[in-house]
Amino acid sequence: MTLSRMKPEPAVKILLVVAVALVDADNRVLIAQRPEGKALAGLWEFPGGKLEPGERPEAALIRELEEELGIVTQEPCLAPLTFASHAYEDFHLLMPLYICRRWQGFAQAREHAALKWVAPRALRDYPMPPADEPLVATLIDTLL
Ligand code: C5P
Repeated sequence: MTLSRMKPEPAVKILLVVAVALVDADNRVLIAQRPEGKALAGLWEFPGGKLEPGERPEAALIRELEEELGIVTQEPCLAPLTFASHAYEDFHLLMPLYICRRWQGFAQAREHAALKWVAPRALRDYPMPPADEPLVATLIDTLL
């Protein structure tokens, strides 16, 4: 096909979100329940959130952890683990999952309905957004 006959691809909205598996001294992972009034309310997710324009993923995570949970971590404590790529109806979500074992403070649910510290195998018992589900298998393999 010549260039002039090619149809333009429809624009796809890409949403960049970062997430983190916080792992405590007992090898449990923190998951957070999405609150009423938000999309996918009631489902459990790894803490994190959207990147602000021009923000680096690690900086976004450090900011989100402070806002959402009231905990403080530093960039060297954040190691990239795996990556979600999921086509929702309205947008395509790209979401790296980091792992973090060192932070200061006690996590509190400032923006979520609830928080839970969960053993790796039990993660499968909590319904998650479709983008997050494939991350769980990699996380379980890493932690067991
Ligand atoms: O958290 P927030 O509502 O800002 O995220 C925007 C969208 O990204 C959600 O509506 C959801 O579709 C998706 N998301 C997800 N998994 C997450 C966080 C967000 O699929 N852990």
